[in-house]
Amino acid sequence: MGINLATMLRESAAACPDKPLLETGGEPFTYRQVDEASGRIAASLRALGLAPGAKVAVHLPNVAEFVLTYFGVLKAGLVLVPLNPALRAAEIAYHLADSEAELMVTSAATAAEVTAAATEVSGVRCYVVGATGAEAPPPGTQPFEALLRGPGRVDTTPTGADDTAVLLYTSGTTGTPKGAELTHFQLYMNCTVAGELLGYTQRDVTVGVLPLFHVFGLSSVLNTVVRFGATLVLVPKFDAAAVLDAIEKHRCTVFAGVPTMFFALVREELTDRDLSSLRAANSGGAAIPEEILRAFEARVPGVAILEGYGLSETASAATFNISAAQRKIGSVGKPIWGVEVAVLDQDDRELPPGSEHVGEIVIRGHNVMKGYYRCPGDTAEAIRDGWLRTGDLGYRDADGYLFVVDRKKDLIIRGGYNVYPREVEEVLYTHPAVAEAAVIGRPDPRLGEEIVAVVASKPGKHLDAGDLIGFARKRLAGYKCPREVRIVDQLPKGPTGKIRKADLRSAVSLPQRPR
Ligand code: AMP
Repeated sequence: MGINLATMLRESAAACPDKPLLETGGEPFTYRQVDEASGRIAASLRALGLAPGAKVAVHLPNVAEFVLTYFGVLKAGLVLVPLNPALRAAEIAYHLADSEAELMVTSAATAAEVTAAATEVSGVRCYVVGATGAEAPPPGTQPFEALLRGPGRVDTTPTGADDTAVLLYTSGTTGTPKGAELTHFQLYMNCTVAGELLGYTQRDVTVGVLPLFHVFGLSSVLNTVVRFGATLVLVPKFDAAAVLDAIEKHRCTVFAGVPTMFFALVREELTDRDLSSLRAANSGGAAIPEEILRAFEARVPGVAILEGYGLSETASAATFNISAAQRKIGSVGKPIWGVEVAVLDQDDRELPPGSEHVGEIVIRGHNVMKGYYRCPGDTAEAIRDGWLRTGDLGYRDADGYLFVVDRKKDLIIRGGYNVYPREVEEVLYTHPAVAEAAVIGRPDPRLGEEIVAVVASKPGKHLDAGDLIGFARKRLAGYKCPREVRIVDQLPKGPTGKIRKADLRSAVSLPQRPR
């Protein structure tokens, strides 16, 4: 079986065949069922002539068919290309062409649009989930069930140590989306280390609300669950009440989310909710403001939010706060096993731990991607001497804990002074009427850039721009204080719930920054 990532499904299916792997709202899917169904999908894919290394795109929300296809693709030795189900025709056509996908699985809701995109990229076959009755699959497509019928079963195709399992699209630090190539070995290592750090066992029941098309949901959530024989409760779309219902109904033990999810949860009425089953919570994808962390922990006694840090390019986790006793709030923790982190100054010299000078964070280890698919120039730019340039700015304290201060691109330089938006945002979040905050730079003829805060208020609370500026002035050095506040209903967010600064600029009519 070599080192195919899907061996972890086989192993867990052998250890606990009748245990639910997936809870979906309807009938659960046991380990045996997922193992068998994915084996049949693998056989269908091979029978369709897809040779090892061929790409299969999946354009689905968090539904069981995503998981079945994923393991079918891995078992057949093919490569999964997960796509955000919110992508529209032109974006889908771009991703299909760039990844050279030969087949895609989508849902009935978007099938017509996807087919139009796929026909632009000739030769991509489409399989449609949920295409029954009134929603018959569009001409030229097949129902997903056709893949499930499979001529026999493929258990796992052996793969080499360096074979790609998943192409994850990300913008990296610059430019258009590129496919980060993650290998079977890297993904296996990452979920193994992450699961051990979180103390995963077969008894765990994890909330599956982080999108599976994103590295956090795919690697840290789905892979970890399967690796340790746990159960995943699929929640197709984030909604605080739906997550709370899932935790209560399935007695979930682990919740992994991005900060905006934690924020939405603390805004819900939690007093009548029974969250006593939760034993672990971890946050990643963006910095969690201390206010939100404290508010969550005050409402869910006994659960400490452990923050980690990583990128699509690092197969998910690179650093982690391993326990409540050993965490440092505000830090993303220390490198996970087998991973090194360094901070470089402008001349690429390493800034030692404890110097607390801010520089670019670089990462080396088993988790660093092979490269960007068919982008040798971007790959050489991103990985130098084995070190991945993250484009994130940070420092290490004397104990080796990493602090992410900001993104290189988000750094504001006002009158020659560096202003890290995150520091200003942390202060704004402590204002009692602020629900969401983001700080960006506006071009300024005199200072180069001026600081603008974009904020949304908590329901029923009144926010006043002058008052907020005064609040910041009392807590921050003058040069870091926003000079302008824009109040909006909601901040634009990406698929995982991260605030999107690029979209924010257009939302408040500020010019984009030059790349
Ligand atoms: P993605 O490839 O979508 O996972 O995005 C990776 C980026 O998310 C990193 O380069 C960071 O800028 C950001 N990120 C991830 N985790 C954290 C964290 N805990 N704190 C601050 N930024 C984070």
